[in-house]
Amino acid sequence: MATPQISRRDFLALAGLTSASAGCPAMAQALKAKDPDAGLKTFQATCSMECLHCNLKAFVKDGKVVKIGNANAFDGKPCARGLSRIKWLYAENRVLHPMKRVGERGEGKFVAITWDEALDTIAGKIKEAIAKDGSQSL
Ligand code: SF4
Repeated sequence: MATPQISRRDFLALAGLTSASAGCPAMAQALKAKDPDAGLKTFQATCSMECLHCNLKAFVKDGKVVKIGNANAFDGKPCARGLSRIKWLYAENRVLHPMKRVGERGEGKFVAITWDEALDTIAGKIKEAIAKDGSQSL
């Protein structure tokens, strides 16, 4: 049977972790100080507007998401789109409420409307399409 190989660096890291888990407060404190995520709140997350494939974790500091990573039980690899959610979340041009076009298509003129108005408009258009061309038109 082959003997497992371990580097000196891995051995020392493992020994440090073992000491910490065995209750060495000084080592545990040192490891915590090296952990950049220590003190951050975490929340279960995923990409609801995309594929919902990954089980993600959002790291929150002072009420703002500062990092996205894997949830503990998920061993897949989140894609770059998912990991870049923070940029989308806090983008200056992110649309935060419904907007209605008031100019010509492509002109870029919009006004803010309420959610009720937006939903009524959408429901009205859906009913209109069904009445005109049947449910297959959707
Ligand atoms: S990280 Fe990428 S693959 Fe995972 S759920 Fe989000 S969009 Fe889908």
